[in-house]
Amino acid sequence: MLELTGITAGYDRRTPVVRDLSLTVADGEALGLLGPSGCGKSTLARVAALLHRPWEGTVRLAGETVTGYRFRAPRHLRTAVGVVFQQPRLAADPRLTLGGLIAEPARATGRGHELAGRAAALADAAGLGTELLRRRPHEVSDGQLQRACLARALLLRPRLLICDEMTAMLDASTTAALVALVEDYRREHGAALLAVGHDRVLLGRWCDSVREWGSGGGNPERSTALAQG
Ligand code: ADP
Repeated sequence: MLELTGITAGYDRRTPVVRDLSLTVADGEALGLLGPSGCGKSTLARVAALLHRPWEGTVRLAGETVTGYRFRAPRHLRTAVGVVFQQPRLAADPRLTLGGLIAEPARATGRGHELAGRAAALADAAGLGTELLRRRPHEVSDGQLQRACLARALLLRPRLLICDEMTAMLDASTTAALVALVEDYRREHGAALLAVGHDRVLLGRWCDSVREWGSGGGNPERSTALAQG
């Protein structure tokens, strides 16, 4: 489903954040990527979600080699991946209601009407009632907003879901609810998961396998540790 080969990426040309990293997530597989804060996990997650162009290396997604990132990525590849980030407030348009936020990808692809029922069902599965769906981000908790962000990520039925520290800011019961929603979705659709985080226990419970990033940040050993044979 996702094949990253020799990925080197960063922001400032002199110091790569991710260096020569390779990993594979098979169709339907749940891979956890464990590492301390600041080691480059989010950067890698953004490369895998076609949101950040790597300096070197190849991304293959759903059998295709990726050549364009962000708005240059073809729509069918962009919609094959759903992403949930750590901080829902940075990922949510403050002008939208939660209902509008969940439906956002449908409207962006001209499928608002077609997917209205699915958006409502996902909101319900995420534990968001009608009253909450009318509120805007500043009127809800981080957990409620993250529930909406997860529902939004699942709306277009992605074949790969990337969860980047999705539950790091949340309490135990919201964490359990979001993980359960992801697992229900994966059972139903056979989707793959790349879960990025620092919580060894959570990733161990959640994922089929967990790969450790290594401690040095930007060091070549970590790519060896991560490379799939
Ligand atoms: P993690 O997700 O493991 O915490 P990140 O990928 O967010 O790691 O960050 C890795 C490094 O890249 C950090 O040193 C961080 O400061 C830097 N970094 C992250 N985003 C940016 C950015 N947009 N511009 C410049 N540096 C960044």
